[in-house]
Amino acid sequence: MSYAAACTAAKAQGLDVLGGFHGGAEDGLPEGCETLLLLGPAQDFWPLFQQSPEFLDSAPDPMDRWSTRVIGQLSQDLQATPFMPFGGPPYAPFLSWAIKTRRAWSSPVGMLVHDTAGLMVSFRGALAFRSRLSLPATGNRPCDNCTAKPCLSACPVDALSAAKGYDTMACHGYLDTAEGQSCLSTGCIARRACPVSDGANRDPAQSAHHMKYFHKPRVF
Ligand code: SF4
Ligand code: SF4
Repeated sequence: MSYAAACTAAKAQGLDVLGGFHGGAEDGLPEGCETLLLLGPAQDFWPLFQQSPEFLDSAPDPMDRWSTRVIGQLSQDLQATPFMPFGGPPYAPFLSWAIKTRRAWSSPVGMLVHDTAGLMVSFRGALAFRSRLSLPATGNRPCDNCTAKPCLSACPVDALSAAKGYDTMACHGYLDTAEGQSCLSTGCIARRACPVSDGANRDPAQSAHHMKYFHKPRVF
């Protein structure tokens, strides 16, 4: 098994390898494993997902069920151990794993920024390998050369800020308004304002799908 072979197998399922690192049990990897690869949506993820049985069956949590099936099959094909970012507690430490890849960093608005997906980064799962895969070189934190930092000023209600972190109450309040429909239908304006986020080439319908789960109707 090689890093390139893992990338090719993931790509065939609409997934990209968004980073990897060498570690061990102290990093939460299974005993005997030396490499972890993080998987997230590739540019052709959304059309593939829309044709999946999980999307079409109208049952709850289609994307999590898709991830369990597809990444579970990948793990068998690649002789790896699968991890999902949902289904806990306990939860696998995806945030710290992402930082360890040196392809994702904390952004000024608190959430992770990724070298190619920007603030649109998301993880559908991870694979742990017993072998020590040769990993590609990593880049620099994009925020260090981003003088304008549009992520800090894009949210209409300042729900994402360096000082306060993520004000989810303000965000949900805005999403309940007519003006907030833009966020619901095309995704978070602040995340989209990051120039690196363009690299994710995210279909607005995919963002709308996530926003629907994030901003569920409240039951009083
Ligand atoms: S807009 Fe600039 S500062 Fe903000 S997350 Fe993107 S690269 Fe970093
Ligand atoms: S979804 Fe809209 S309201 Fe919420 S943080 Fe993003 S830009 Fe602000």
